[in-house]
Amino acid sequence: MPRKLQQFCPKCGKRVDDLVEGLCESCHNLGKKLVDAPERVSVVTCPSCNRMLVKNEWTRAPADPVLTTIKDSLRVNGQAKLELDFKGNRATLTADGSIEGYSEPRHESYEIAIKHAKRLCDDCVRARGGYYEAIVQIRSEDERNVKRVALLIEEVVEHPRGKYWFVAKMSRVRGGVDIRLGSKAMLSPLKRRLKEDFGALETKMSHELYGHVGGRVVYRDIMLVRV
Ligand SMILES: [Zn+2]
Ligand SMILES: [Zn+2]
Repeated sequence: MPRKLQQFCPKCGKRVDDLVEGLCESCHNLGKKLVDAPERVSVVTCPSCNRMLVKNEWTRAPADPVLTTIKDSLRVNGQAKLELDFKGNRATLTADGSIEGYSEPRHESYEIAIKHAKRLCDDCVRARGGYYEAIVQIRSEDERNVKRVALLIEEVVEHPRGKYWFVAKMSRVRGGVDIRLGSKAMLSPLKRRLKEDFGALETKMSHELYGHVGGRVVYRDIMLVRV
């Protein structure tokens, strides 16, 4: 059987059978870190609706956006106790623990710069441009019912399930309220909530020509709700 060719570790000079990413195993492990932390993070929030940009998606901001952003940006390679100290726009992260598969304790510390940015989210940009795909027309003799439906719409808005999930405009009209919704997709959860809350009630769908978008004829959905 031919002998396997030995190699030299370029760092310590040790002869080994195999190199791990160009180094002997012990040199390679020395370079391993308990925590991979970025030098800076940016916390991007929408000044209009307070949502936060997380991995390219606008989502409802957590209670502590900065802490959440930093936590999301870390990779912990083992068991570690993490501590963060904030000073102005900087955070000091200290990590104590051990890397997976190695028993020697590690102590690491990192400085992370925090950048805050305000940017209108896609929905708010659209809403400001007057964009909407659906209208809910609430009609009732009883003002309290109009309010109840408006509250259900608020509930739907708080649980976004797609793009353009916003109320574009609310306007008083004779006999009730017209509410313009950013997305047509908001109508189906609304219908479900209406059924749950009011039982049998009259809704009627119709459509209005909106225009041409990319060569396609686009209609707006109009839902009439009598309560
Ligand atoms: Zn080595
Ligand atoms: Zn927004």
